Amino acid sequence: MGYYSISKLESFGKAKVLSRYKNLNFIGGGGKKMAEGICYVCNQSFSAANKDAAIEKIVEHMMAAHHGGIWGDAMQAKNAFAKCPVCDADIGKPFAKCPSCGADLIEQYARKVVSRYVH
Ligand SMILES: [Zn+2]
Ligand SMILES: [Zn+2]
Repeated sequence: MGYYSISKLESFGKAKVLSRYKNLNFIGGGGKKMAEGICYVCNQSFSAANKDAAIEKIVEHMMAAHHGGIWGDAMQAKNAFAKCPVCDADIGKPFAKCPSCGADLIEQYARKVVSRYVH
């Protein structure tokens, strides 16, 4: 009787450890998700811990490396913001800075476009 219950306990313990190990494996399989994106001007690729960080990195790169190109795109009437992404003021025309809050709309434009290239 004594021996029987001990071996039963042992096998129970093993099963528990095994299922725990399986769960750990399952969680590990999910893995960390890195966000990746590219600069749509020069196709350089960037990766970061999450989507926001990746967008931040690429926008920073574009403002430094391709400011003139972004400016040209942002200044096209079809690319004008209807509303300022920062303060929500009506804009409707291409501006370099929001007339209401002074936000850099060239950078905001880059951010908007880059978010389509990050996944
Ligand atoms: Zn680039
Ligand atoms: Zn604004």
